[in-house]
Amino acid sequence: MARKFFVAGNWKMNTNRKSACALADGIVHKLDEALVGKADAVEVGLCPPFVYLSDVARLVTNGRAKAWLGAQDLYTQDNGAFTGEISAAMLKDVGVHFVLCGHSERRHVIGEGDDLINAKVKKALAEGLRVILCIGETLDQRKANQTLEVNRRQVQAGLAGVGAGQLANLVIAYEPVWAIGTGVTASPAQAQEVHAQVRKLLADLYSRAAAEAMQIQYGGSVKPDNAAELMGQPDIDGALVGGASLKVEDFVAIIAAAARVA
Ligand code: PEP
Repeated sequence: MARKFFVAGNWKMNTNRKSACALADGIVHKLDEALVGKADAVEVGLCPPFVYLSDVARLVTNGRAKAWLGAQDLYTQDNGAFTGEISAAMLKDVGVHFVLCGHSERRHVIGEGDDLINAKVKKALAEGLRVILCIGETLDQRKANQTLEVNRRQVQAGLAGVGAGQLANLVIAYEPVWAIGTGVTASPAQAQEVHAQVRKLLADLYSRAAAEAMQIQYGGSVKPDNAAELMGQPDIDGALVGGASLKVEDFVAIIAAAARVA
């Protein structure tokens, strides 16, 4: 069965209550037009800041879910003395469907390591949340020819202890750190090369069927004018979008590009 595309917007620490609602509302209202009959082939997700999840939940779920609601992070414990943290149960309580784990800003700005990211992945999956596991090399690592090694390590470490039966709820986002928020995009060929390597690794770790079924998103300065070519690559199954997800027109245009390619 053909893999669906999954286009998710990561709003990071942007918006306020009013603009978050306006953004979600604007996107939801343009979805049918953007998807032009491809609603079954393209999934859409929105990841607002934690404090606006409830507001956005009301706008994206209208009888049936028009877009999946995502959180940008979670903590590994159920409750207790973990000041500032948010549990999987809290996220589910406000209608969250999926969660990002290991985003490069969590890895490189906040300092999260592979073990913590793996614990978050396992906790989210155990709680029935869908996970987008983000991986990607830095510019120095790419220049040092470590791209494959770094992405392999992040996949293996991120998925340690994750069983084949849990993979249906897992998505991988390949996001080269040098392309995030920089305006520099990996070329379609550069992105495809790593996506194919990641899919091969998944086949080695699990099975060919599991690897073929896995959605692997590309992230890193995806814009309306490069989205179709990136998503037209055989192993790129959608996009994790930062900056361009903050403008209704741009994000909807990226969704429309996915619908055209689907
Ligand atoms: C991201 O935050 O995951 C991202 C890809 O950001 P941008 O699209 O702005 O590069």
